[in-house]
Amino acid sequence: MKRRNFISVMGASVAGLLLSACSPSDKSLNDTQKAQVAVPVQESFEWKMVTSWPKNFPGLGEAPERFAKEVKRMSNDRLIIKVYGGGELVPPLEVFDAVSQGTAEAGHSAAYYWKGKIPAAQFFSTVPFGLTAQEFNSWIHYGGGLELWREIYEPFGVIPFAGGNTGVQMGGWFNKEINSLDDLKGLKMRMPGLGGEVLQRAGGTPVNLPGGEIFTALQTGTIDATEWVGPYNDLAFGLHKAAKYYYFPGWHEPGTSMEITINKKAFDKLPEDLQAIVENAARVVNQDMLDEYTARNNASLVELTTKHNVELRKFPKDVLEKLQVISEEVVNEFAEKDPAIAKVYDSYKAFRDSVIEYHEISEKAYINAR
Ligand code: CA
Repeated sequence: MKRRNFISVMGASVAGLLLSACSPSDKSLNDTQKAQVAVPVQESFEWKMVTSWPKNFPGLGEAPERFAKEVKRMSNDRLIIKVYGGGELVPPLEVFDAVSQGTAEAGHSAAYYWKGKIPAAQFFSTVPFGLTAQEFNSWIHYGGGLELWREIYEPFGVIPFAGGNTGVQMGGWFNKEINSLDDLKGLKMRMPGLGGEVLQRAGGTPVNLPGGEIFTALQTGTIDATEWVGPYNDLAFGLHKAAKYYYFPGWHEPGTSMEITINKKAFDKLPEDLQAIVENAARVVNQDMLDEYTARNNASLVELTTKHNVELRKFPKDVLEKLQVISEEVVNEFAEKDPAIAKVYDSYKAFRDSVIEYHEISEKAYINAR
């Protein structure tokens, strides 16, 4: 009797019992019986994953590749994910729509790119003067953040997972020194998310561009300044060839999270073990990106300052203080206007206040002491 017929005659539950009770090496079975119990019939899946990054771009673009690789390995080839660079299947900043509409089953991007569609999404990438990477991951996984994130994406049929974190970013690339808040006035700068809103309030003009377009825009003068990520990624785009001063710290992006998004219908079609694999592969990628950036940023910074003579500058204290005041105003105003933001920000703020209090005497006290 053929295996398929055997299973259908037995009925799925009886076959399942037989499979769990016997193994192919069971000495009481003859060869035919061994063949019958050796391989359960399991459905396989093929997914497309669209991203906002150039294909295989260091860090950001490697994370979705790593996700696909881990899922393939853990699922024993039952879930194969083909990764597309930004623009290969859909434009870099249309990842969310593609996943929502089912053009792709999965996406890798950052939530603040969807602020025009879902203003509350911005809180799930980063908030100026907000949580660090470590704190953000804690809010997401132990502070109720993930539940809120799922709630705001639910109407779009999209399930989000944290999908990598850059840690504290750099403040950006400028061709003039920033000595006062006035120096930001009239400045056309690439800056996404809430940071861009703060820049606008400070008199600048924020521009949202996908990563792959930043260098040309800066070099041709379409923008006056830009931020991207940190030394490792900024070096990869050659931003030092288009600007002289490299400012820190990245007040606007203190621990930016990427997101892995999954089309809900596609996720629901997976058996439970593959769903668990997707969930855990996302968790691996989320931690892995931060580990890689932490390892590579300093070496890249040394290369930028010694080999490429980049001038490193710290934002003046009063500029940072004023930007922090503006940030608080901007976020509070958003919360007053939008009930979804108010709900997310209540949770974010309560978590931030409590974690800052503890980190004063733990992480920060230690870093200051060593
Ligand atoms: Ca950035």
